[in-house]
Amino acid sequence: MTKRWLCVCIATVLFAFSFCFSSCRGEQKQYSVTSFDSFDTVTTVMGYAESEEEFARVSGEMLAMLAEYHRMFDIYHSYEGMENLCTVNERAGKEEVAVNGEIIELLLYGKEVYALTDGAVNIAMGNVLSLWHTCRAEAAENPEQAKLPDPEALAEARIHTQIEDLCMDEEKGTVSFSDPLLQLDVGAIAKGYAVEKIAKAMEEKGVSGYVLNAGGNVRVIGEKPSGSPWIVGIENQKEGEDYLARLSLTREALVTSGTHQRYYTVDGVRYHHIIDPDTGMPARGYSSASVVSSDSAMADALSTALFCMSSEEGMALVESLSDAEAIWLLEDGTKRMSSDFEKYCQP
Ligand code: AMP
Ligand code: MG
Repeated sequence: MTKRWLCVCIATVLFAFSFCFSSCRGEQKQYSVTSFDSFDTVTTVMGYAESEEEFARVSGEMLAMLAEYHRMFDIYHSYEGMENLCTVNERAGKEEVAVNGEIIELLLYGKEVYALTDGAVNIAMGNVLSLWHTCRAEAAENPEQAKLPDPEALAEARIHTQIEDLCMDEEKGTVSFSDPLLQLDVGAIAKGYAVEKIAKAMEEKGVSGYVLNAGGNVRVIGEKPSGSPWIVGIENQKEGEDYLARLSLTREALVTSGTHQRYYTVDGVRYHHIIDPDTGMPARGYSSASVVSSDSAMADALSTALFCMSSEEGMALVESLSDAEAIWLLEDGTKRMSSDFEKYCQP
């Protein structure tokens, strides 16, 4: 299976529960559309509408917004006529870079998440993450030559990961790095943040009965026209096995971080993409961590954070938050849930 299709499998909105619905506004049918254009993943919009045209208009708006967020938060490519995080990474070590308010807001959120997770999620870890990213990309091209990042390069990279060196001037709308070698990677938070912004914008316009799933960042935008919730499955990580849990959601987000999305193999050992800031190495102990919250940005940040925390620390963090529940699948196949996670579970 390709990486993209693996991402689709992380959280599946269960089609078995879909049906046509006759309402006083006329017959509403369920439609869906899939796109590969944003955040290097597969995005599905599913929703009820009175016509295909209406669905195409609403889903088209969501996908266009997602593509715009992708361009702003892309660290790998720059785009004509805009400062994005790629150009910030190129220039903010030398000068103040003027960016739009959405970028400033995301970076401020990154700082908030750092504080909340005690550094488990650090968007200033770009130098470390890019070493792993390069090795993973090279291994995809040439699996026999797969190697780990050079330990000296990794040690050097880890020096330049201080979140305090990321500076924003909100009034001027600029970003600069006080460490000229700092680099950002917002992969842990950007998708969930963008999905939440889109969902909020849609809710403000009165859109309801839709689900936006950007590569496992699922956000439900209102119940179905029948008043029934959406049923969303969290994939078990072992192929052929049933769902880890089936959740019943009406306006929440469900985000999963997992080891089977992005990884490569060296000498028979798998190295996945979630890096423990304390070691610079892939975090150990879990196969997946999934978070339900009314806020997709928070669910995304937390699911990555939980991967880099002991289960005691992670459980304490989730239990301290009123708007988050979590389920962990440990490497040994056992599962753990926060105290109120079950309220979302289908029997
Ligand atoms: P997610 O799939 O949301 O768990 O995010 C994983 C992505 O976030 C990775 O592909 C990296 O780009 C980035 N990342 C990995 N580990 C961390 C970390 N500890 N802090 C911040 N970003 C990370
Ligand atoms: Mg995340």
